Amino acid sequence: MIVFPGNTRITTTPSFPVAGSSKVCVYDVNDQATLDQQCQFYKERLCGIELDAEKLERIKSLANIRISTLRICVSSLDDLHYIDRLIQDIKGKNTAVILKTGKDILRVVNYLTGFRIKILISPVENEIFIPVLDELIDFYMHQTTVRSPIEPFHSILQTMINLTRITLWDILQEKPGFDFYITGEGKITLSKRWAENGRYFGSTNQSWDTLRTDKLFQKIQNPNKLFFAEQSECVFCPHFTQCGGYFKIFNADADCKPWKKVFATLQEEIQNVRRILTEYGKTEKTAK
Ligand code: SF4
Repeated sequence: MIVFPGNTRITTTPSFPVAGSSKVCVYDVNDQATLDQQCQFYKERLCGIELDAEKLERIKSLANIRISTLRICVSSLDDLHYIDRLIQDIKGKNTAVILKTGKDILRVVNYLTGFRIKILISPVENEIFIPVLDELIDFYMHQTTVRSPIEPFHSILQTMINLTRITLWDILQEKPGFDFYITGEGKITLSKRWAENGRYFGSTNQSWDTLRTDKLFQKIQNPNKLFFAEQSECVFCPHFTQCGGYFKIFNADADCKPWKKVFATLQEEIQNVRRILTEYGKTEKTAK
């Protein structure tokens, strides 16, 4: 059975308990008994719980659960009534809602951000989000009722104004060497996206020493180096600093145009703010 080093974050199901001292996020938590058992088992190592909104019906209370992040997957507007029942418990936690819907998206986002609940949209769910990306960015940047971040826009903005030096890989919990994802079958990879693309490093019945010699694992330890070595289009892209080639890692022909537009829009917003600040500064000086 594998034991990961302590400085790692493992996302797993309750069926594959993680030994050692690494941080752990658990997905597929379906009821209160499982939730209590996972909290009891991992204690302070537990850094996140992910559950579908409809499973909240089987959760009596989240008030006493100490976890750094609670992630709830919302697939439709109807799912909000499951959240509503536990809103007092959820509000006090670092809760992020993973959106799985493009339908009624602004109503869902409006409701959740009003309670200071963070929103996460997955850039890989392109067919869902591409039609609503423009509306979402506009909503996030200009709607005054928004009181919490919409990711990954928020972190991209922070990177653009040099508050952080992270890429989509970090924002979306796919940090090579730090993040690991265990599938329901016990296979190990970087994230759910990597599992969905059939890329694995090994399985839970191997040792850490064997896993870390895996070719794919070795290859992706430095994605930037990989893109430079292959002279990928990404290294010439103006958004490489924020994106890190996230969309083309599996397929050099993947269409990332809609996300290039997102990066460009956010950059434009920052430039507009900088221009206003510069102009205002000039006016102040002229007035003195
Ligand atoms: S936006 Fe596209 S081309 Fe640019 S770095 Fe990302 S994946 Fe590569």
